[in-house]
Amino acid sequence: MIPVKNAHELEQMRRACRISALALKAAGEAIEAGITTADLDKIIYDTIVRHGARPNFKGLYGFPGSACISVNDQVIHGIPSKKVVIRPGDIVSIDTGAAIDGFNGDNAFTFGCGKIDSEAARLLEVTRESLYRGIAAAVSGNRIGDIGAAVQAFVEDNGFSVVRSYVGHGVGRELHEDPEVPNFGKAGRGPRLVCGMTLAIEPMVNQNSHVVKTLSDGWTVVTADGGLSAHFEHTVAVTAKGPEILTVAEEEA
Ligand code: MG
Repeated sequence: MIPVKNAHELEQMRRACRISALALKAAGEAIEAGITTADLDKIIYDTIVRHGARPNFKGLYGFPGSACISVNDQVIHGIPSKKVVIRPGDIVSIDTGAAIDGFNGDNAFTFGCGKIDSEAARLLEVTRESLYRGIAAAVSGNRIGDIGAAVQAFVEDNGFSVVRSYVGHGVGRELHEDPEVPNFGKAGRGPRLVCGMTLAIEPMVNQNSHVVKTLSDGWTVVTADGGLSAHFEHTVAVTAKGPEILTVAEEEA
């Protein structure tokens, strides 16, 4: 059963998502050589709490941080650590969310530290654009498969690969709700999209092979071949006016 939000619930979603986006933005602006991923996690925690919300990643399935912070060949679920120091040229994927008044936001962005090499820059650009291709397909009457097909086509046309082992998801009263939102697949397949659905669309894109593995910490997912990986995510509502990105970093008026 895919939850559908009414107008009031969508307003609550916008609030949770806005705080999620502000936290992500604050961490991105703090990235510089020498900062640790624990420092970035603290910035995220503080931003979310300052806005009266709760870091919804913290404690979920036992995850220790307020954000998953994944560097270079790490795909997702990197654990914030004082031992992980960001260096010039690193790419840093940050995934975080906030909950307030019973609703959740979820978003991710891959930032570069200083000047990154041209192939890394292209990976970030393609992954970010693939997210927007997916969002454009999140239209009432379409199917879930239309989103993944749009993402996959763009990524593969540009010579990169879409991670298969992890997918996007519905988001609302729970951080992870139905349906699954794969970043790959066939157009015209899967559940029909209707107005009021809220989806976390989140392409994870690898430089080389899409195959990933999990490190012995039980969390950190890395590319199997050591290539780079990028991750961009928005929480999006399907509305009568088309897809609405909810994770927008605007201060409250
Ligand atoms: Mg997500």
